[in-house]
Amino acid sequence: MALTLIRNAAVVATMDDAAREIADGAVAFRNGQIVAVGTTTELANFAEEAETVIEAQGCVITPGLVNTHHHLYQSLTRALPGATEASLFGWLKRLYPVWARYTPDDVFAATQLGLAELALSGCTTSSDHLYLFPNGVTLDDTIHAAAGIGLRFHATRGSMSVGQSMGGLPPDNLVEREDAILADTIRVIDRFHDAADGAMVRIGVAPCSPFSVSQGLMRDAALLARDKGVMLHTHLAEDADDVAFSLERFGCRPGQYAEELGWTGADVWHAHCVQLDHAEIELFACTRTGVAHCPGSNCRLGSGVAPIRAMRDAGVVVGLGVDGSASNDAADILGEARQAMLLQRVTHGAGAMAAREALHLATRGGARVLGRTDVGQLRVGLRADIAIWDMAQPASTGAWDLVAALVLAPPRKVRDLFVEGGAVVRDGELVLTPRHRIIAAAQASLVRLMQE
Ligand code: ZN
Repeated sequence: MALTLIRNAAVVATMDDAAREIADGAVAFRNGQIVAVGTTTELANFAEEAETVIEAQGCVITPGLVNTHHHLYQSLTRALPGATEASLFGWLKRLYPVWARYTPDDVFAATQLGLAELALSGCTTSSDHLYLFPNGVTLDDTIHAAAGIGLRFHATRGSMSVGQSMGGLPPDNLVEREDAILADTIRVIDRFHDAADGAMVRIGVAPCSPFSVSQGLMRDAALLARDKGVMLHTHLAEDADDVAFSLERFGCRPGQYAEELGWTGADVWHAHCVQLDHAEIELFACTRTGVAHCPGSNCRLGSGVAPIRAMRDAGVVVGLGVDGSASNDAADILGEARQAMLLQRVTHGAGAMAAREALHLATRGGARVLGRTDVGQLRVGLRADIAIWDMAQPASTGAWDLVAALVLAPPRKVRDLFVEGGAVVRDGELVLTPRHRIIAAAQASLVRLMQE
C-alpha cells in the first residue's frame, strides 16, 4: 500500500506514554502501519514520496476510538414504547419477544447500521455481544456485516441457557442448549479468530449474564476460552437487582461469583460493574480484569454511577462502551467519554476526572480492555487507526484547548477515519457501503418487526 501523509493538523493527540500533543502535527502511514508521527516540518520529506497527502488544517488528529461493549442487533429497537422508562429486568422482559422475531437479515442490517453510526462518530474498533440466535441467526451474520463497514470487530459469541422455567429471566424460546452453545463457540473461533497484530476480527466467549446462564456454562466457557487463547466477556453487577439476584441465587456478590468460576484475569472484561464494592475493585485491579464502562446506558436504565474514579485509582483497566442501542439509545464514543467525565464530577467534584483522562479511556483504555497493544495510540509501528476531527463545526468552534474540547465540546462527527490505513470515512461519509443503502435495509427490517 502506498504512503499516506496527513499534515498541518492543529494538533496531534498521540495518547502515547508521554501523552505527547504535537502542534502543527503530521502522521504518515504505509501498509496499515504508522511510519512517522511529528510536526509537519519534521515529516516534510514524506510529502514527495506520499501517494496521498491529506490536509488537516483546523483539525485534531487522535487514535481511532474504541468501543468495548455493544449489542449491535439492538440498533433496530431504539426508543421502543414500554421499554423507555424501565429498569434492567423490566426492560429486558419487554424486549425479549421483539428480539425473538429477528432473522439473519435483520441482524445484518442492524449490525451495519450500528457500526455506521460508530464509524461516523470516530470509532475504529468495536466489540459486539450477540447472545440470542433466533430463526437461524449466527455470529457470522455480524462478522460479514462488519466487513462492509470496515471497522475492526471483536465479535463475542454470547449465549443464554437458563430460561424462565428454570428460574432465569429470558423466555424459554430464546435460550439454547449448553452443548450446542459450546460447539458453535468453537466453530466461530476456529473459523474467524485472528490473534495476530493488526487483526480485523477477533472472537470472544461471552455468556450473557449470571441471571441467564448456569454456573456450569460460565465455568466451561472460561475453560474453553483459555484453551483457545481468546478473551472472556459478560455483564456483571449492572444494578442493585443484579446484585440481589447474585446474593439470593448464589449466596455471594458478583465479584466472588466471577472469581470462583474463573472469570477474573487480563483476558476477561466485564460490562458495567456499576455496583462493585471496594473488595471487588481490589480484586479486579490485582487480577488485571477489565471493565467496560457504559455511562449512557447506566443513566438511561437508572442503574447508578459506576465507581470509575475508585477503579482508576486502584489500577483497574477501564474502557468505554456505548452498550446496546435499546438502552442508550445512541452510539457515540465521544459522547460516552463526556458522560463518564460528568458522572464522576457529579459524585466527586469538578476535579474528579479531566477531559484528557476521559479521552484516554476512549482510546488507550479501550484498547487495553480488549487486549490490543497494536491500536489505541499514535506511535510508530502501531496500526494506522486514525481519526481526523474538524473542529470548525457549530458544536466545537470557540474552543481554546482543542484536545479538551473533544470531550467538553465534542464535534458531532468525524471528518476522516482510517482503519488499518484504509479509509472508512472521508469528508463525513462512509466509504465502503453507501449510507442510504444501510438505512434502507434497516428501515425494511424495522417495518417488518413492527408489523408482526
Ligand atoms: Zn450490555
